[in-house]
Amino acid sequence: MDGSEMSGRPMGDPPSSHRLSNPTAAERFLALGAVGHNSADVIVVLNHGGFVVYGNPVAQQFFELSAEEGVGTDALGLIHPDDRERILQRFSELMGRPGGSIRESLRVVTPSGDEKDLELVATNSFDNPAIEGILVNGQDVTQRNRDQAELASLAERFRVAFAENMAPMTFTDLEDRIIDVNDSMCEMVGYAREELVGHDSTTFTYVEDVGITEESHRRALAGAAPQTRYVKRYRRKDGRIITVEVSRATAVGPGGMPQYFVFSERDVTEERKMNAELSKRALHDPLTGLANRSLFEDRLDQAHARARRHGGYGAVLLIDLDDFKGVNDTYGHVIGDELLSAIADRLRRVARSTDTLCRFGGDEFLVLVEEMAVADEARVIAERILEEMSAPFSLRGTTFVQHASVGVAVFDPSSEEVATLVQSADIALYEAKRQGRGRVVVFTPSMHQEAVSRFTLAQDLSRALERGEMSMAFQPIIDLANGEVVGYESLMRWHHPERGAVPPDVFIPLAEQSNLIYDLGAFALRSAAEAMTRLPRTDGYPPYVTVNLSARQFHDRNLAQLVRGALRHHDVAPHRLLLEITESVALEDIAESLTIIQELLALGVGIALDDFGTGFSSLSYLVQLRPRAIKIDQSFVRPASPSPQSDAILELILLLGRKLGVMMIAEGIETPAQYNRLRGVNCRYGQGFLWSPAVGLDEVEDLIARLGESPPIDHSRRRRGRMSERHVVEGE
Ligand code: C2E
Ligand code: MG
Ligand code: MG
Repeated sequence: MDGSEMSGRPMGDPPSSHRLSNPTAAERFLALGAVGHNSADVIVVLNHGGFVVYGNPVAQQFFELSAEEGVGTDALGLIHPDDRERILQRFSELMGRPGGSIRESLRVVTPSGDEKDLELVATNSFDNPAIEGILVNGQDVTQRNRDQAELASLAERFRVAFAENMAPMTFTDLEDRIIDVNDSMCEMVGYAREELVGHDSTTFTYVEDVGITEESHRRALAGAAPQTRYVKRYRRKDGRIITVEVSRATAVGPGGMPQYFVFSERDVTEERKMNAELSKRALHDPLTGLANRSLFEDRLDQAHARARRHGGYGAVLLIDLDDFKGVNDTYGHVIGDELLSAIADRLRRVARSTDTLCRFGGDEFLVLVEEMAVADEARVIAERILEEMSAPFSLRGTTFVQHASVGVAVFDPSSEEVATLVQSADIALYEAKRQGRGRVVVFTPSMHQEAVSRFTLAQDLSRALERGEMSMAFQPIIDLANGEVVGYESLMRWHHPERGAVPPDVFIPLAEQSNLIYDLGAFALRSAAEAMTRLPRTDGYPPYVTVNLSARQFHDRNLAQLVRGALRHHDVAPHRLLLEITESVALEDIAESLTIIQELLALGVGIALDDFGTGFSSLSYLVQLRPRAIKIDQSFVRPASPSPQSDAILELILLLGRKLGVMMIAEGIETPAQYNRLRGVNCRYGQGFLWSPAVGLDEVEDLIARLGESPPIDHSRRRRGRMSERHVVEGE
């Protein structure tokens, strides 16, 4: 049989007559046995037909065949089907080359189904009389191949995990010198791999943060933690500073000794910037940049905790701008916003670095003051703030003054509650505003009680109208010359079901704080108009009636319409109605007041300046307001301590009225002496308890009768004549 015979043989054919049947074969077997028996390699001899004539013990074990089973086996049948063709080809070639050899790797399938790898050298030894066949010397490389495959897959896994990782990674040795970096790391720091390997991270670490790396290195070496994480800054090669989150892991060898370090890093610069921006936005007012409420409350809690630990006082200052709405309405929201920013800047100037400034709401600001040695410091700071505010603001070519009021609530180490501090400051602020503009009031517990009762009263007031608890009372206005009733001031009355009469000085300011004032104002006007149809005529002439207007009513856009409606509804002549406004209300915004007054005068009604002399009237403005009547304040009628000076002022006011042709009405005349004094200085009209307090409409008839029967002043000697209607309504 030759090689071509062998190659032509169908694969896997069973062996024919090739058995160890002749002595030469037996001799060979013995001879080979000496060589192959003790070899650690797989030794097999094949004959021309490719059948096994010899297999050493290693081969028997490898192929899982005993000597008896093995000899005569078709070698091809042992080879993995996929490898057979190739091996057959190579062996066929070898058959034709006596003395030649080939080197091959192949897979074997054992009877038990195991796959094994064999690396072999086959030598054509037919010319070797000791062998006379193909000598196959092979090595079982199954395990080696498996190990290699595993290593290769490990290497691939590592390659993907390190080289191709998007996360910057670094390996360092025990001295923290860089062994390797991946591309992402190079990209992040802007250095080439060659510039980094062999150096430590100081190359690209921001100089102030070098210590962070050193500390983590120390801890890692000491085995303090298998993994540490820290944040530090890098200075890239181009100089840009970035913030990086680093995690360092320690690779340990046998015995747990550190071998090298693996770093995985993350550039968190943008993320941090965004977070900072987000938290700034979440905690700050976008317009002024001051803290918002939630940040303020947080700081307040902390401040309180500190005060409890270390002592000292703290305070909450609530600052409210007086009539900020006016700025918005007059100059527009752009200027309004600019003003708020400017105010924030001024607050910053006054504040210390430890204070927290907050925009609390529209035109309200909060200041948290900490670490005061004495409680009274808070008032000093509040006053300093008001002083800072007092300088005029110049915005876009407009200069104006913006006043503010401050409510202060102080806390000390013993204060239990901080949650109510802002509320307390608010109560103090209310008190400050009540006292006038530009004031500081420090909260006291009694204010809280007042606030509570004010609140319940406001609740009651909101239902008072519908419950019919409100009414109008009328106080006669007297011609002091003859005792005639020429008109009435209408004054509102509230009969509270439990408290009885609540004075208008209490409930009008309360109503001013809500829209309730408009309902009450409308009620007053309608009631007055209706009363005009029922009030008795004096001497055949209809009396006039005055109605008080509060500041907000006066500025109400619907005022003129309301007045016209009320008069028309009851069909009364407009000239019989006088609207009382105080000079401070009228002079607050003189331009707007003049427009409103113009509108009212066009209806035919008159204006009376109430409480005259209590403000700081500018005489020129006074003329522009064109009042029909001036009501001289009670403080001039009943001065606390009468003096030639107060007489002089009274005379001056009266002289002024006369020159302007205005009715002068003295308020609050209680005694004949006061009456005489007024008459002595030629005051023509007056009202007061000397004649009567305000009475209900139903009682007016009786009152007139009583005054006729027993007048408090005997006018018989003074009476000079009757007054004309013109006299009463349009002044002297
Ligand atoms: P006012 O307009 O200056 O009213 C005069 C106040 O003096 C009234 O107090 C009146 O009862 C009181 N009075 C009159 N004669 C005498 C007197 O001889 N001696 C003393 N001691 N007082 C006298 P009242 O009714 O308590 O009203 C207080 C204030 O409440 C009023 O001051 C006015 O500003 C306001 N008010 C009253 N009614 C209304 C109203 O309908 N609307 C508005 N907006 N305010 C009103
Ligand atoms: Mg009045
Ligand atoms: Mg008055």
